[in-house]
Amino acid sequence: MADWPAVTWQLPDWITGFVQGWQGALETPGQRMELVIELARENVRRGTGGPFAAVVFDANGQVVAPGVNLVTAINSSAAHAEVVALTLAQAVVGSFDLSTGDYELVTSTEPCAMCLGAIPWSGVRSLVCGSTAADAEAIGFDEGSKPEDWKGTLRARGMTVLTEVSRKRSTSVFADYARSGGVIYNPQSQGSTAATDRGDQEIPATGGKNMAVARVTEIIASSPKSFEAAINKGVKRATKTLKGVRGAWVDGQKVIIKNGQIVEYRVNLKVTFVLKD
Ligand SMILES: [Zn+2]
Repeated sequence: MADWPAVTWQLPDWITGFVQGWQGALETPGQRMELVIELARENVRRGTGGPFAAVVFDANGQVVAPGVNLVTAINSSAAHAEVVALTLAQAVVGSFDLSTGDYELVTSTEPCAMCLGAIPWSGVRSLVCGSTAADAEAIGFDEGSKPEDWKGTLRARGMTVLTEVSRKRSTSVFADYARSGGVIYNPQSQGSTAATDRGDQEIPATGGKNMAVARVTEIIASSPKSFEAAINKGVKRATKTLKGVRGAWVDGQKVIIKNGQIVEYRVNLKVTFVLKD
């Protein structure tokens, strides 16, 4: 019998001091979201994980436990910010059931399919979200399949759900992450996309008349059907949240073969979009 390792979910060292600097006056969901967004931004800036953060607050708006995304840091696909914050909060409270208190989970991005399952199980009474799933998917993260009315499923359990709180600011952390060359850590077999904002590829959009600046984003899109379907998927994903998409070109393509069969058509797309007019 193998000797399996014990698993420790350890927050980066800087978080304690960072969160202490914010204690005290977080009376509104918006104020609490500000802390969560800056936590996500700091996680990117320090290179300690993905562009996501979440915090469990008590009824007085005090931090019970923070969480940042530790997927790449501890090699666990389950270590999303929400699950990290909930796990630590439960350790702080000394119970797997947070429903004995009045706790709120504030997360910089709405929960993925996995976290959507974990949140009501934790016993928190309310959920506050910043960016939407579409915002996260626009840079290539896979949110998984959720019920269309996922908020309704939580409300049906008696939870309060607030979404798109400081959405723009929380989404700006994704751009920081893309610029830093952060890893997009999805399973690549489900037609997911990965995008990297190549800050060095600024090109003039039209030249002369206006001052529009186009930028190029690289997207890897895939489909089990065809290259065309993969291109459509990538363009659809890009236009969903990027404003001013002007065009795209295929910069490379390949097929994935398993057991002699093509199982995936993958394209490397360069999408141009206007940054500002
Ligand atoms: Zn998640």
